[in-house]
Amino acid sequence: MTAHRQHPQDDRPIHPEPALATVGVHGGLPPEAVTGAILPPIFQTTTFVQEGVGGSPGSGAGNAYTYSRAHNPTVTALETALAAFEGLPHARAFATGMAAITTLALAALDGGGHVVCSDVVYGGTVRLLDRVLAPLGVAVSYVDTADAEAVAAALRDETKLVLVETPANPTLKLTDLAAVAAATRHHPALLAVDNTFLTAALQRPAEHGADVVVYSTTKYVEGHNSTLGGALALSDRRLLERVDLVRKTTGSIQSPLQAWLTLKGLKTLTLRMERHAASAAEIADWLAGRREVANVHYPFHRSFAQRELALRQQAAGGGIVSFELVGGVAAAERFCAALRLCRLAETLGATETLVTHPATMTHGDVPAERRRATGIGDGLIRLSVGLEAPRDLVADLDAALTACQREVAR
Ligand code: PLP
Repeated sequence: MTAHRQHPQDDRPIHPEPALATVGVHGGLPPEAVTGAILPPIFQTTTFVQEGVGGSPGSGAGNAYTYSRAHNPTVTALETALAAFEGLPHARAFATGMAAITTLALAALDGGGHVVCSDVVYGGTVRLLDRVLAPLGVAVSYVDTADAEAVAAALRDETKLVLVETPANPTLKLTDLAAVAAATRHHPALLAVDNTFLTAALQRPAEHGADVVVYSTTKYVEGHNSTLGGALALSDRRLLERVDLVRKTTGSIQSPLQAWLTLKGLKTLTLRMERHAASAAEIADWLAGRREVANVHYPFHRSFAQRELALRQQAAGGGIVSFELVGGVAAAERFCAALRLCRLAETLGATETLVTHPATMTHGDVPAERRRATGIGDGLIRLSVGLEAPRDLVADLDAALTACQREVAR
């Protein structure tokens, strides 16, 4: 066996525009150069030996890698694949989705400033803005980003970041990305879109004008409830430099093993999103016919107020269904306690079907008045539809809805 042969590389494209499923599997990554390994190695190392003094990245000399808090080859492999999947020149991977959002905020808010944020977003984003950045002097306006004119009206001279989540966690309210991009076009603020709920498999924010696409890869991208991770995908080189500076300074980079597992998840993402969405659409339809359910939120459902926008902006409805139980918090408690296959948990976007009660779990830190004003009712349930057979999920949901009929009748 030749231990150190150079594996032949053939970089010729197989097709000028390979399909997304193909990009997801190959991710712009050839087999590893030395051994031909089909998957990149896990470079489980803190440091990289330098050839000589002055060989730091950017110097044009020596080793491009120095220390794994700045860059690591396994993390780079994931970033290459994520950028290819997003159709953007650059991606960076982070320890968590919140690490990605925090790094972006610190990179964008150079010298302080103002953030415009969707009024319905993941509770951790609200916590970051209100309880970490606001005390440092950052001003924040929560705006109904479904209304592009309201976004334009909220912009100030010092606005540096417009942060949109669509579909929003947990009500699935949508933002018209092209309309918001048009409303912010003549302002220097960055338009960042948290695409965690759909991923680039089902929605492509940069094609609608977003400057940065944000992910919690903990959810669908890795997809198996086995890693925490986050990502930013972007085009602008100067912003990338600022992101790299903040990441290597705060240590928010993803670890090599987590990056490797996330890369494995990315390979099956297109396939999984198709199945998540097909099952969720079936379950949304079934829930809409139940008397214990006051209303169902699912972007492709015929009853969804923004369905026309969903059909225009998304390739499918996604894997999350939210629904309001008649009977409020008492019904929600009873319902969650009666489930057997679907499990009560904080996260979403993986193989196992998970149920969350946002008012007491993910959005418990959002002030009650703001929760109610934005449609996060006490009886709202968020269902992350997994990859089990839909008929088994329906059987479980049926039994749990039946169990809360007493609360519904009150
Ligand atoms: N963005 C969205 C839409 C989320 O749902 C979450 C987590 O639930 C995050 C960001 C934060 O990601 P993480 O938990 O990986 O830090």
